Amino acid sequence: MTTLKGVHCFSVPKRYQVKLRPTYAMRAGDLLGIDANPKTVKGRKLGIATGILYMAPALSAMAEQAKGIRVHIGGDFDFPMPKLKNLCPYASDGCLAACLNTSGKGGIPSVQNARIRKAREYQLDTANFMIKLDHEVTRLKLMAKRDGLLPAVRLNGTTDILWEREDFTDSDGVYWSSIMAKHDDVAFYDYSKVPMKFRQIRPANYDLTFSLSESNDDHALEALKLGHNVAVVFNEIPAEFMGHKVIIGDESDARFLDEKGVIVGLTVKRTKGDNGRHIDTTGFVRN
Ligand code: SF4
Repeated sequence: MTTLKGVHCFSVPKRYQVKLRPTYAMRAGDLLGIDANPKTVKGRKLGIATGILYMAPALSAMAEQAKGIRVHIGGDFDFPMPKLKNLCPYASDGCLAACLNTSGKGGIPSVQNARIRKAREYQLDTANFMIKLDHEVTRLKLMAKRDGLLPAVRLNGTTDILWEREDFTDSDGVYWSSIMAKHDDVAFYDYSKVPMKFRQIRPANYDLTFSLSESNDDHALEALKLGHNVAVVFNEIPAEFMGHKVIIGDESDARFLDEKGVIVGLTVKRTKGDNGRHIDTTGFVRN
């Protein structure tokens, strides 16, 4: 038995005892947007309540560092912001340009600031971030139960993090191998550009759809072979692509309900600054 913040729990690795000490003031604010976009609103008709975590993708949060932001640790003490990671390690030029991060409400500066703040919180104080996320998933479950809905969570709304590897210790001091392991009654799902061979070991309640860019056809074919679906952004959705049937993915975001071994066709979305439809010049948008 180990004592962690006055709570008895089992086998907590030493690093968590350190990480659980607040290192900077975590701002209040919801992490999960619940049924906050048109596709997840459609999911309610399917009996699903969906929470999505939107954080600054790729290099957006890293760019903040250039502004010389310092992390306040109480009293008169602060220090330069530590180096942040790229939260989309397989992002391509085409997906960066078409990223949903700036579509819809994402075009509003305050929404962008909130996403940068969450990406910063996740990277600088992962232990407390996970505790907060855990509480919000629990709250979503209670809301879903009240309304007779299935709770679903998409953690990579606009990032590409391997959440199945993010172990954490909850506020009761209990260690979990992942947020999915703790909430095994929730349908977690994501789109990902990380080669699926690196994501085969994950909880059964975490469904992944591989996401095609202009430069990862080989990884898409590999994903299909491994039994994953592949999401493709099209100007016009065809009946078949890469030798596989195409289903329409615009009707809902509940990817975990899709039949397997298919291409999930998505219609290109408008992003901030587009005059009408997004004009892709990289090959990211197909046909
Ligand atoms: S990997 Fe996904 S979330 Fe990241 S920049 Fe590309 S489209 Fe956006």
